Amino acid sequence: MAATDTPRTRITWDYAPAPESPDHVRLRDSYGLFIGGEFVDPRDGKRVPSINPATEEPVAEVAFAGEADVEAAVEAARAAQHAWAKLPGRERAKYVFRIARLIQERSRELAIVESLDGGKPIRESRDVDIPLAAAHFFHYAGWADKLAYGVGGRSAVPYGVVGQVVPWNFPLLMAAWKLAPALACGNTAVLKPAETTPLSALLLAEICQEAEVPAGVVNIVTGDGSTGAALVRSDVDKVAFTGSTAVGKDIQAALAGRGVGLTLELGGKSANIVFEDAAIDQAVEGIVQGIFFNQGHVCCAGSRLLIQESVADDVTKKLWDRMRLLRVGDPLDKNTDVGAINSAEQLERIEELVEAGVQEGAVRRSIACDVPERGWWFPPTIFTEVAPAHRIAVEEIFGPVVSVLTFRTQAEAIEKANNSPYGLAAGIWTDKGSKAFEVAAALKAGVIWQNTYNKFDPTAAFGGYKESGFGREGGAAGLRPYLRVT
Ligand code: NDP
Repeated sequence: MAATDTPRTRITWDYAPAPESPDHVRLRDSYGLFIGGEFVDPRDGKRVPSINPATEEPVAEVAFAGEADVEAAVEAARAAQHAWAKLPGRERAKYVFRIARLIQERSRELAIVESLDGGKPIRESRDVDIPLAAAHFFHYAGWADKLAYGVGGRSAVPYGVVGQVVPWNFPLLMAAWKLAPALACGNTAVLKPAETTPLSALLLAEICQEAEVPAGVVNIVTGDGSTGAALVRSDVDKVAFTGSTAVGKDIQAALAGRGVGLTLELGGKSANIVFEDAAIDQAVEGIVQGIFFNQGHVCCAGSRLLIQESVADDVTKKLWDRMRLLRVGDPLDKNTDVGAINSAEQLERIEELVEAGVQEGAVRRSIACDVPERGWWFPPTIFTEVAPAHRIAVEEIFGPVVSVLTFRTQAEAIEKANNSPYGLAAGIWTDKGSKAFEVAAALKAGVIWQNTYNKFDPTAAFGGYKESGFGREGGAAGLRPYLRVT
């Protein structure tokens, strides 16, 4: 075809693939449990592969901890706790600081492993997960000798041994959110990573060895929900859990009456509210960041988009135009915006809820994208004509799916935003500062962003209201869950 036959509007710009090479990553074929400063075999010898969700191929094999392994890890943590708590804060700080430095040194490797094991785009693991994980250890290294200042001058002692259970959406970052404050406060820990994403936590175990963290201070037991449940039942002094509301409720019931401390960071169905006076193009970028970041596997994702009626058509049109530019595919490609869905089970959950949305009468649009034949994928999707009672407006989808609702007045926006059993986060898009403050004060959500979304910082507290849980992580507030204050 002659060049002149191609209408100018049909010129397409494409990217050449830009894959990050995994060649220098030094994963072992098989990992034991990290107990008492060593990698040890599980007592019953059971091991399972960890699967790359973009290829369905195993990445490495990990041990599966049973009840006796969990008990051994808790005993190791118990044996180490007194001496760890007795260290002067400035000495504990050195270890926590070393962990942070080693995360930085191994950041490229950690980012690749996080993307291989969990399916998230390398751009996000490289620029968000790993730097923020290091930043959390740096931040809490700074608190270790200033604990009294963090609790208003009152006296505080560590809980003792803490059991920590983390999910698969931000594996290393969630481990950092849990371990950094626990260690700084003088606790020892047993951490259980998620079944589908155990590898970065095991690299963190190697980092603890390199940092010469005393044996037993950090213990990592891989396994599934039954390992987490065994940890909750064990002789720990405190449990810190991030994950689904359903499991959070079970844990709360299991701990009732035992005098064991508990913090829960659970699910959400967060409202991202766009007022008519907002900078619309900027808001569209924020909406994309709010829901498509990490395939929407984000507890605080802006999954309920509330748009003022007068600008709803404009915003949804611009959002759709922007969504169509998102690149879905190989998580290791630096151009990828949306990677693989973390597991076949999670993909099934997303598909089930999306089907329910269609059945209930909402209008679905999903972008066209070529995805690899193997692996688990879901295209970025928008639902319009959504009613507040639809399941897609109420339940956490935990995938790249946004449900659009509209409102006419500020009061209606607040009412709709608060009409949720959850209360984790919210976004407010407006040019009027006073309106942002007024709305923020009326919203029942733990974190509220103004004219931005999904921004995290180790100095800022994060946590929920209602069925999104209780307790805070991050900043000085993040010390409290790891200290008994008198
Ligand atoms: P879960 O709550 O089941 O998993 C979170 C962590 O808890 C994992 O390490 C899991 O282990 C462990 N676990 C599972 N059952 C128990 C138990 N009875 N006692 C102690 N620990 C347990 O989340 P899912 O992975 O099943 O995801 C389901 C839904 O949860 C998602 O669709 C999403 O809505 C929500 N979710 C919310 C997250 C958040 O950040 N708030 C994070 C992850 C999920 P294992 O993985 O090995 O089963």
